Amino acid sequence: MGVVACHTCDLLTRPSDAAGTTSLCPRCGAVVHRQKSNSIDRPLAFALSGLILFAIALTHPFLAMKSGGFVQETTLLTGIFELWKQHLYGLGALVLLTCALIPLAQLTGLLYILVPLRLNASAPGSVTIFRTILHVNSWAMMEVFLIGILVALVKLAKMATIVPGTAVMALGLLTVVTTAAMATLDPPLIWRRLDRRP
Ligand SMILES: [Zn+2]
Repeated sequence: MGVVACHTCDLLTRPSDAAGTTSLCPRCGAVVHRQKSNSIDRPLAFALSGLILFAIALTHPFLAMKSGGFVQETTLLTGIFELWKQHLYGLGALVLLTCALIPLAQLTGLLYILVPLRLNASAPGSVTIFRTILHVNSWAMMEVFLIGILVALVKLAKMATIVPGTAVMALGLLTVVTTAAMATLDPPLIWRRLDRRP
């Protein structure tokens, strides 16, 4: 691990890079560096469970609408298709991007980088992919979409009986799991591992 400046008193120190340790400034006692533990295994496990939740979200019913003996079920993909059919192209593309493509790319990208690192190797193009994942993270706004759905549900509930499907639950959990994968990730450690040439 390289030299790090204390944020409080600017003293230069070389913190320990052992997993799970917290390095304190020897002069003022402020936290200089905190090395996360299992920072490859944890995001890996979260990304894997994310993909499973994603498969559930795509294949299970999203909403069921009951109105006077008439039941209509939608999945996430048919929902996007419906938006498209009603000429809401921009909204359809936005939902497809933020709810399906970006989270999927983020999770598969993480697995693509972390699985080889776990086996002490690095996959070609990892540096570019990792940079993209960190950049795109601010664009994965599934939680905003979920709140939008909740608002729409409350409004629709006056007209018909709305039954949220398994996919809504799976998407909610997926948001939590993706956030956890990104939070347990330790970018400086990943950069160092990716830089190490065999
Ligand atoms: Zn200090």
